[in-house]
Amino acid sequence: MFADVIVDISHKNVDRPFCYRVPDAILPDIHIGSKVEMPFGQGDRVRTGYVIGLNENPTDEIEESRIKDLRGVVKGSVSAEENLIALAAFIKEQYGSTMIHALQTVLPVKREIKTREERMIHAGVPELTLQQGALEALKKKQKAKARLLEELVTSSRINYSLVTGKLNVPAQTVKSLEKAGFLTIEVVKTEELPFTFRREDTRPNALSDEQQHILDTVKRDRENGEIKNYYIYGITGSGKTEVYMGLIEECLKEGKQAILLIPEISLTYQNLQRFYHRFGNKVSVVHSKLTDGEKYRQIKRAMDGEISIMIGPRSALFTPFRNLGLIIIDEEHEPSYKSESMPKYHAREVAIKLGELTGANVVMGSATPSVDAFYRIQNGELPMFRLSRRLTGGELAKVHVVDMKEELANGNKTVFSGILKSMITKRLEDGEQTMLFLNRRGYAGSVVCRECGEVIKCPHCDISLSQHMGGKLVCHYCGYETESVKKCPKCGSVRIAGFRAGTEQIEEQIHKTFPQAVVLRMDADTTKKAEDYESILSKFASGEADILLGTQMIVKGHDFRNVTLMGVLLADMSLNGSDYRSAERTFQLLTQAVGRAGRGELASDAVIQTYQPEHYAVTFAAAQDYEGFYEEEIAYREFLDYPPAGHMLSVQFFGPDWKRLSQLSLGICREIEPMLVEKASVSQIGPGKAALGKKKDIYRQVVYYKCKDIGRLIAVKDYIEKRIGSLSLNGEQIQFDMDPMNSF
Ligand code: ADP
Ligand code: ZN
Ligand code: ZN
Repeated sequence: MFADVIVDISHKNVDRPFCYRVPDAILPDIHIGSKVEMPFGQGDRVRTGYVIGLNENPTDEIEESRIKDLRGVVKGSVSAEENLIALAAFIKEQYGSTMIHALQTVLPVKREIKTREERMIHAGVPELTLQQGALEALKKKQKAKARLLEELVTSSRINYSLVTGKLNVPAQTVKSLEKAGFLTIEVVKTEELPFTFRREDTRPNALSDEQQHILDTVKRDRENGEIKNYYIYGITGSGKTEVYMGLIEECLKEGKQAILLIPEISLTYQNLQRFYHRFGNKVSVVHSKLTDGEKYRQIKRAMDGEISIMIGPRSALFTPFRNLGLIIIDEEHEPSYKSESMPKYHAREVAIKLGELTGANVVMGSATPSVDAFYRIQNGELPMFRLSRRLTGGELAKVHVVDMKEELANGNKTVFSGILKSMITKRLEDGEQTMLFLNRRGYAGSVVCRECGEVIKCPHCDISLSQHMGGKLVCHYCGYETESVKKCPKCGSVRIAGFRAGTEQIEEQIHKTFPQAVVLRMDADTTKKAEDYESILSKFASGEADILLGTQMIVKGHDFRNVTLMGVLLADMSLNGSDYRSAERTFQLLTQAVGRAGRGELASDAVIQTYQPEHYAVTFAAAQDYEGFYEEEIAYREFLDYPPAGHMLSVQFFGPDWKRLSQLSLGICREIEPMLVEKASVSQIGPGKAALGKKKDIYRQVVYYKCKDIGRLIAVKDYIEKRIGSLSLNGEQIQFDMDPMNSF
C-alpha cells in the first residue's frame, strides 16, 4: 500500500503530494485524512503530513526502491484538518473533481492579514445637545441628519460605512455635522470585521412550548448518544432563529462550536445583530465581500479558539473548529447552497457528511423545505419539528390570482392587471407601500401562448423549450430542436411569443402609469456596491419611496410594516425555466413573496399575475399550502425519476471545436452504453446541446444519467473521469454535476 501525503496543508496552493510506502504495522490505523509522520527533505528530518490518497501502486514516477516508508500515524484526538481532508475525499468522490481541487475548496488558505484603515464617528457633544440637534433637524425635515444624531445618542462610536450604508446618511451630511462640531471622525487601524455592533444585554425570549420541545428533544437525543439531524419547518416569523440561538447556546455549554449557514443575501445587519447581541465576541462572519486576508483572519480566530460561532454562506461550512457540535442550515431550500463551480457540491449533503465525521448535529430550517429534504422527512429519515404560529403578529395577506390571458382578452395590454393597478392607486392615496416582484428566472425565453397559456414543451422530457437566437426552440436536456412556432398548437392563436421583460422596462411602465409614485429599484444593476443593498432597504423602510420594484432579492427576509401590497408581475417566468425544479422554485418564490405583505397591523393583499392560474405551483402558493404542493411535485418527480426520487448526473463537455466536441461526447456515450445495459437501471439522455450552447467561443454539450442508486452514477462518473484522463485532448474539458440545481 502507498500513501499520498501532503506536508503543509495551509500553503497557498496545497502542496504537491509525496508518495510513501505504508508499513504493514500501521496499515490498520491509516485512512484518508490521517496525520502521519515521515522522513522529509534534506537529512530526512521527521515531519508531519496528512494522507490524501491510498493506492495499491505508487503514484510518483520514481523507482519503487527509492520510495520512503511512513514512520507512523500520529495518535490522539482527530484534528479539524483530518476531518476536512476526509470531507474533501467525500466531495471528490460524490461530485467529481481532483483531490487537490477538493482540498483547495475545504482547507483554509493562509493569507497575509493586512490591517485596514477604518473611519469611526464619535459624538463630539454631550447627549443632550445631540438630542436637541436631532429634534431641530426633524423640524427642518432633515431626516438623515436626525437619524445620525439619534444613533449617536445610543452609541457614542459608529462605523463610518455603517452610517453611509445602513443608516443611509449622505457623506455631505456627515461632513456638515463634523464642521458644526456635533461629531468627530477618527481613522483607526483595525483587524476586525468591517461592521461593528452595539453590544446589548438582551435577555432571550422565554421560549414557546413548541420551541422548547425542539431544544429538549435534541438535548435528550444527545444525552442518549444519538446524534441526529433535524428539520424545523415553520413560516417566517415563527421563531426558528430563536431556536437556533437556543441550540447554539446548548452547544457552547458543552464546550463545542457551531456553524450557522445562511444565504449570502440574508447576511443583513438586522440578522447578524441578533447573534452579536446574544453571543457578543464569540461570533464571527465570513462572506464574499471580505478580502482573502480578512477571511483568513476570521478562520484563524476559529482555529485559535477565539470564536465559537461562525456565520456565513456555503463556504463557512469549512471553518476548522476543533470540536464542532452543531451545524445549522437556515433557508435550507435556497439554491445558492449548491456550488455552481467545480467541485459542484451541495452544502446540505456536505454538512451531513461533516456531521457524521465530527459528531455534530445538523439542524435545517425553512418555511418552504426543498423537495429533497421533505422527501427524507416523509421517508422517516429526517425528524421534523413544526413551528405553527407567526409570533410577530400580523394577518397573512389576502391572495388574488389574476389570469393575464383574460386581461388581454379584455383589451389590457399593459403589465398591470386591472386589480393590481387599482390596488396600487389605493396605496398611493392612503400613504401605504407596495412591493412589486419581477420573477426573472428562466428569463431567456420560454414560449407561451398569450391567449390560452399553452407552453411549448419537449416531447421527450416534459420540460419547456427555450427560444434561442434565430428563433429555434431547443430542449436543454436532450437537445431536441424544432423550428419556432408561429401559431399556438392548442388554440391556433398567433399571439405566441417568448417572454422578455427586465426591471428597467417595468420601472418605466410604473412611471408612466403612476407618475406621482416614488420608486426604488433593486436588481443586480442597482446593488453593485457592498452597501447598496442595505441602503435601498433602509430607504424603503423609512418611507422614502412608495414602491419597491425588484428581482428575487426583495422577497427575502426584511419586514416592512407599512407594506400592504405585494404584486408578483409575472409568476410564470420561473415556471417555464427549463429544468425539472422550475415548479419548486416558483412555488418557493411565490410563497415567500406572498409572505412579504401583512407584517404590520394593516390588512394587506398579494396579487399574483400569471398566464397559468391553474398551475399547481401557483394555486398552492396562493393557498400557502406547502404539503399540497409537495404531493403533486413528488408524484411528478417519481414518475420521471427526477431527484429526489432518483439521482441525476450531468456530464458537461466543453471545447473550442464543435466537431471534435461532438465526437468526444458521442464517443463516450457509445462506450458507456454497454456498461449501462449491465446496470440496466441507469438511463442515458443525450448528448445534447447545453442550454448555453456556446459561451465565450467555447462549445458546451451535456449528457444526463438518471438512476435510483447514486452509487451507480458515481461509477459512471469515475469511469468517464478515468477515460477522459487517458485521452489526448485538444482543449476539451469535462465537468460533473451530481443532482444539478440548474440546467446547464
Ligand atoms: P424566524 O426565524 O422563523 O423567522 P424568529 O426567530 O426571527 O423567526 O422570530 C420572529 C420574531 O419573533 C422575532 O422578532 C423574535 O424575536 C420573536 N420571537 C421568537 N421567539 C419568541 C418567543 N418565544 N417569545 C417572544 N418572541 C419571540
Ligand atoms: Zn394557445
Ligand atoms: Zn428533451
